[in-house]
Amino acid sequence: MSTNHKTKSINHYDVIINGSGMVGATLACLLAQAGRKVVVIEASKFLSQPKSYDLEAPYDLRVSAISRASQKAFEKINAWDAMLSMRALPYEVMDVWDAGGDGNVRFDAAELGEPNLGHIIENSVVQSAVAASMANFENVTVFQPAKLMHFDMLADRVDATLENGEQLSADLIVGADGANSQVRTLAGIDVIVDDYAQRGLVATVKTQEHHQFTAWQRFQQTGPLAFLPLVDGSCSIVWTLPSDRADYFLSLNKTDFKIALAEAFDHKLGKIIKVSDRAAFPLRGSQAKPYVLDRVALIGDAAHTIHPLAGQGVNLGIKDAVELSQQLTAVSDCGSLKVLRRYERARRGDNVMTMRAMEGFRLLFGHSASSVKTARNFGMNLFNHAPMVKNQVIKKAMGL
Ligand SMILES: Cc1cc2nc3c(=O)[nH]c(=O)nc-3n(C[C@H](O)[C@H](O)[C@H](O)COP(=O)(O)OP(=O)(O)OC[C@H]3O[C@@H](n4cnc5c(N)ncnc54)[C@H](O)[C@@H]3O)c2cc1C
Repeated sequence: MSTNHKTKSINHYDVIINGSGMVGATLACLLAQAGRKVVVIEASKFLSQPKSYDLEAPYDLRVSAISRASQKAFEKINAWDAMLSMRALPYEVMDVWDAGGDGNVRFDAAELGEPNLGHIIENSVVQSAVAASMANFENVTVFQPAKLMHFDMLADRVDATLENGEQLSADLIVGADGANSQVRTLAGIDVIVDDYAQRGLVATVKTQEHHQFTAWQRFQQTGPLAFLPLVDGSCSIVWTLPSDRADYFLSLNKTDFKIALAEAFDHKLGKIIKVSDRAAFPLRGSQAKPYVLDRVALIGDAAHTIHPLAGQGVNLGIKDAVELSQQLTAVSDCGSLKVLRRYERARRGDNVMTMRAMEGFRLLFGHSASSVKTARNFGMNLFNHAPMVKNQVIKKAMGL
């Protein structure tokens, strides 16, 4: 390699972000807004062609309940209006009930004096909107599709090589590359994983009755079944099942699946009229230990995953992105461990607490003993009639 070529191919950035999912792309925008020079490496092809939006297109099977706190972050990076102009449904009520009794908890935005509890948005819509914002920043360079080959953590920088031979250096490398994070592996960071032996079966369904702008969740002993409202009146379902049951429901023909689903949902919205293709994702709780090393930081699912029962995974990741960007705003060295530890201190507690709360719910509703069921249903109804406590809980989930 000639000296000339080498000088040209080694570019120094403030931050390399590996992975441009909802969380990594949001971090890129926040850092760019703060004046940082950022390079993003994304393995998939998706973001290089944010699609012009077709309102009639089938719904993405992956949707997220986006909290008000995430909305604020998306507003800050000018991505929120683009999401609203595609497909985003504000939901006003969350109705949770126990299949094993009469326990019921209902959260209503009107009781809080709020216009909604959050928005249900397809992951592809969030990604398209954030990618479009990212494209407006001159200080963000995107390599896509591209993959890291390796990186070296040096005293004053990280040197990275991509599979196409491109060489980059930066003060810091961030792993925003999801639950199987390559950055986490290459940095040798351990991850504690709790495999729930469950899968989340997802599909889009049309129900006999309108969803009433409500996120519905029925807790069964095998796991929760959620119906999330969509713009055209249909619902996106997330059905938590033991892995073998998920396989079974995936294998059913559409007619039998519709009957089984309506039954599992206690016919709350009548018959299931239509169902899309189905898919299932493994569910695991995990925490990386640590989130940071000298010159390395993990955010989003690369740092932690939780059960989707309260729809908090991506919202926690967006909070990570906001916190890390704030910590890096006014520092001279983005990769300094002292600075990165501030990020970890600010975020780990919230992430662990949320994960434990989700696990607590999962175990509580998994109990079949009648004494536990009775106490659980009594507790749910008591909670439902304690507005002060209930409002605190829902405000926390909304990120207010
Ligand atoms: C069934 C289900 C339902 C859910 N519902 C909700 C919900 O309602 N609300 C909510 O908040 N959360 C929900 N979650 C969780 C949420 O989907 C995740 O927390 C979120 O997608 C994590 O975002 P991320 O950007 O951190 O990671 P990812 O979405 O995994 O993105 C990682 C990105 O990195 C890229 N990448 C991966 N490896 C590499 C590599 N080696 N090099 C370069 N790029 C790479 C990928 O292509 C991808 O673009 C749900 C999860 C499941 C399974």
